Amino acid sequence: MEKNVDVKKVVRQHLEMEQFLAGFAVKGKQESPTHEMRHEDRMPGAEAVSELEKLTKEVCQCRKCDLGSLRTNAVPGEGSFAARIMFVGEAPGADEDAQGRPFVGRAGQLLDKIIAACGLKRGDVFIGNILKCRPPENRDPRPDEIINCMPYIQRQIELINPDAIVALGAHAAKTLLNTPKSIGQLRGQFHEYYPGLGRTPIRLMATFHPAYLLRNYSEENRRYVWEDMKKVLAELGLPVPQ
Ligand code: URA
Repeated sequence: MEKNVDVKKVVRQHLEMEQFLAGFAVKGKQESPTHEMRHEDRMPGAEAVSELEKLTKEVCQCRKCDLGSLRTNAVPGEGSFAARIMFVGEAPGADEDAQGRPFVGRAGQLLDKIIAACGLKRGDVFIGNILKCRPPENRDPRPDEIINCMPYIQRQIELINPDAIVALGAHAAKTLLNTPKSIGQLRGQFHEYYPGLGRTPIRLMATFHPAYLLRNYSEENRRYVWEDMKKVLAELGLPVPQ
């Protein structure tokens, strides 16, 4: 948990975010019933599902780096294996480490709102991270940790094969795109993620991390994230709330 939380600021942010997203969320739900996202024909075959489940177990037993011995729980990721949209964050924080689930703290609550504003449910998408274990004190992931952990997210993307990836924040975007460019340069436009030789590239939208948004809570930043998400919905042919 964050230290010295300014309760007044948190309440104000919450109310502002409710105001900012509530209209979209209600409208989105009406226009885009969540069952439309459940494309049964997207469900990977039994072999891929079993691979994904095996991968989850492997992550939970992983000791490839020191983070494996520091964690309470590994956080393999969760959601639909038939997801059309896959969100990729940086690394678990304290709440995620405690629960073994991605994006369940304050940033996660904001991500839930963004997903709802898109007319979707958390269970419609898949949510993963570049690192599967929490770095101490939420420090930035180290290059050696990223190198050790990368095969997990790469394999998850390959098996789920989403129509779009939303990279949340600089670490996810720079790692998946293998670029030194800043999140400011990367966000707002589609890039291509290459899942492997002979595979069709996957469209990747980079946007600000919800935790960054909470720390830099301007109308402009919120608008940027919302514009980025609307581009993803449009690209996938999903209803775009106005
Ligand atoms: N931040 C992340 O990048 N991932 C989580 O799972 C939670 C917070």
